[in-house]
Amino acid sequence: MIIGIDLGTTNSSVSYFTEDGAKIIPNRLGKSLTPSVVGIDENSNIYVGETALERSAVYYDSTAQVFKRDMGSQKVFKLGKNEFNAEELSSFILKYLKEDAEHFLGEKVEEAVISVPAYFNDEQRKATKKAGEMAGFKVERIISEPTAAAIAYGLYQKKADAKILVFDLGGGTFDVSILELFNNILEVRAVAGDNYLGGEDFTQILVELFIKKNKIDRESLDSKTLSHILDQAEKCKRGFSDSKISSMNCIINDERIEFQIDIDDYEEACELLLEKIRNPIKRSLSDTNLRLSQIDDVILVGGSTKLPIVRKFVNKLFGRFPNTSINPDEAVSLGAAIQAALKERNQYIKEVILTDVCPYTLGTEVVMERENNRIEAGYFCPIIDRNTVIPASRTQTLYTVYDNQSKIRINILQGESRFAKNNISLGELFVEVPLALAGEESIDVTYTYDINSILEVEVKVNSTGNKVKQIIKNKNNDMTDEMIEKRMEEISYLKIPPREQEKNKLLLFRSERMYEESVGEARKQLDYIITKFESALKTQDPIKIENAREIFKEELDYIDEDQKLR
Ligand code: ADP
Ligand code: MG
Repeated sequence: MIIGIDLGTTNSSVSYFTEDGAKIIPNRLGKSLTPSVVGIDENSNIYVGETALERSAVYYDSTAQVFKRDMGSQKVFKLGKNEFNAEELSSFILKYLKEDAEHFLGEKVEEAVISVPAYFNDEQRKATKKAGEMAGFKVERIISEPTAAAIAYGLYQKKADAKILVFDLGGGTFDVSILELFNNILEVRAVAGDNYLGGEDFTQILVELFIKKNKIDRESLDSKTLSHILDQAEKCKRGFSDSKISSMNCIINDERIEFQIDIDDYEEACELLLEKIRNPIKRSLSDTNLRLSQIDDVILVGGSTKLPIVRKFVNKLFGRFPNTSINPDEAVSLGAAIQAALKERNQYIKEVILTDVCPYTLGTEVVMERENNRIEAGYFCPIIDRNTVIPASRTQTLYTVYDNQSKIRINILQGESRFAKNNISLGELFVEVPLALAGEESIDVTYTYDINSILEVEVKVNSTGNKVKQIIKNKNNDMTDEMIEKRMEEISYLKIPPREQEKNKLLLFRSERMYEESVGEARKQLDYIITKFESALKTQDPIKIENAREIFKEELDYIDEDQKLR
């Protein structure tokens, strides 16, 4: 069985394909979304998902969140005395999802299709693949998230032909893509996006408003208090889904601070953020030569499309109501499972032919000849244009610039700028050429973008026929298989607590947080019920523990409600 995984910045989700179509696999807490959060305690127990998120309020310094943005980079995340990069953290999430899927399906799961933002570059895609491998998966396919969402939607479509715009606003990224469906062919026409725009930014606005309104000195806040404010801002933001007025309730230096905000004021404060939504939409339309009015359907994907001010903005922009026939939280995961089914030629799937495009222009650095034979370096020469259908292969011939030049350097660039220095260098390659007069020696540089938008480069010296071929290695993170194995051994001291304990841990972390947030009588109550639950845990009797857990949860809910009313 191949499963589909939406490895999100904020939430991840896993699906599989059945004779009734794609279905979400619930996690060990019975939920369809698993927060992409990792925490590690002082005994090297590793927590993932909701439990890690609940734990983060108290153990802020040993929790990592929003690390997907840093996939493929060298950023180091400190969790207590442990240090990890974004791939390693992602691999913990994937491992957890793998366990849940195997438990649910009752079989080993070895292979997965993992989704990435369309706008992820080569390095980030490779890092995602590596994270999957570290979690024990074979990762044959990386699929772009909007493409996955569109298949989830397109497959259940009645219409034979449609131009679809997928609008995916998640926690940290914004992706737009335009797809065309005709007969059974689903063709991605263009992708665009912003890797630095998402729900987190909308939460930050509330944090800023709160801090400003209450004249708090941001610098004076420790990271734990900031995280508490952030948590309240998140709740406040979600509150707008049910009401025009929402509120935050924070405890700062033992003082309770209430803050109410009206949706119109919030909308005004978010004006600049909302405006940022426009650019990728414009670009995807111009890349496909389409006008807004030619789009048949707009599909909303991602948790942030639940924010009423975002919906309003989208409605106004498109002059109509978007399609919400599939759950915006589940579309990507379901689509990844459909892709998995297509890949394994599942008998229950109707054949869909899918074509995808590459998100960025790939090229190389060249010199330009200016007036008076003056040579100027540092220009970008595009080889594969963005939004070319993949797989794609293009060749560009380059010539020597100087007499007796013995080497040519190929700087492999990704980006849209006319100047090399403004684009991202994915790596470089040198080839030797026979000595000759300038312009007499030439090389053919061939770029191949594979089905996963991963690049391969081949260089041929035309006079000698010599070839240099190199799969571009992640420049920042050039780990060999042996290095990965060694690293896995290094971190094998980490333990995932048994699945059965998850619900207990979740409640215990919640009670710890509530204890920190309360004073006086409520604290005494909490102390009493925590001790009671802990002694039930000591009995190791599963039935007793389950009963005690039910009661513990009701008691916590009660205290929570009681606190809110004060
Ligand atoms: P990602 O794809 O980045 O993992 P999701 O699609 O799960 O993210 O979206 C997560 C974002 O959605 C978070 O920023 C969260 O605050 C936001 N979100 C979820 N539910 C709501 C809601 N009801 N109202 C506003 N924002 C929401
Ligand atoms: Mg997402």
